[in-house]
Amino acid sequence: MVAVQAQDPAQAVIGIIFGPPGSGKGTQASRIEREFKLKHLSTGQILRSEVARATPTGQKAGRIMAAGDLVPDELIVDIVRGRLPEAETGAGVLLDGFPRTVRQAQALDAMLEDEGHRVATVIALEVPQKDLVERLLERAKVEGRADDTREAITERMHEYHKLTEPVLDHYKMKGVAVERIDGTGSPDQVFERIRRAVPAPLAGEGAPGPKGPGGVGRDAS
Ligand code: ADP
Repeated sequence: MVAVQAQDPAQAVIGIIFGPPGSGKGTQASRIEREFKLKHLSTGQILRSEVARATPTGQKAGRIMAAGDLVPDELIVDIVRGRLPEAETGAGVLLDGFPRTVRQAQALDAMLEDEGHRVATVIALEVPQKDLVERLLERAKVEGRADDTREAITERMHEYHKLTEPVLDHYKMKGVAVERIDGTGSPDQVFERIRRAVPAPLAGEGAPGPKGPGGVGRDAS
């Protein structure tokens, strides 16, 4: 396994939580943020907030998202470029929902290179396809997200396999540690697996050991 190199402690550590729609990225990212002291940056959450506030970005993104398609790379790269510097002022950043295409990954690499940062670890959640669809349809009843219709879910899965999965190979080829995590079971069980797998510099000095507190999951994405 490629561990994170010893680096200047002043440097922010960049991690990515990765997985198909419904794999539990959002739920696990909230826990990682809390327990590993990383700043969680979710492009899905940022976009949903833009849509809710009907900003120019929200107006562009709303219909695309509701159909289950990816918003244009330039739009999302601009959003991340605008938010990353502030997020990087802490111990580290956990990216959730980005990068979702190889072009986005290349844009991120260039942004980080400019600052002397790099992606330390990719945490890849793995859940069988039939469980994903069940989880998303279940969430639709609770949260009523515009893109949790059966049609949009099918499109999101399609986009994931076609455009997003290749991002994992991009990082593997660059020698970045890709930790594959079984995403089935309860949020506590999944978080426990992440805690065991993730190298210490990403988990942070103060992160609790395996007996640390659990918590309640937020959503299934
Ligand atoms: P999920 O992983 O459950 O599909 P997210 O909350 O991560 O949910 O994203 C919701 C939607 O927001 C995506 O289907 C897509 O339309 C849009 N989106 C989020 N991040 C990106 C991105 N990096 N590139 C393009 N579109 C994005």
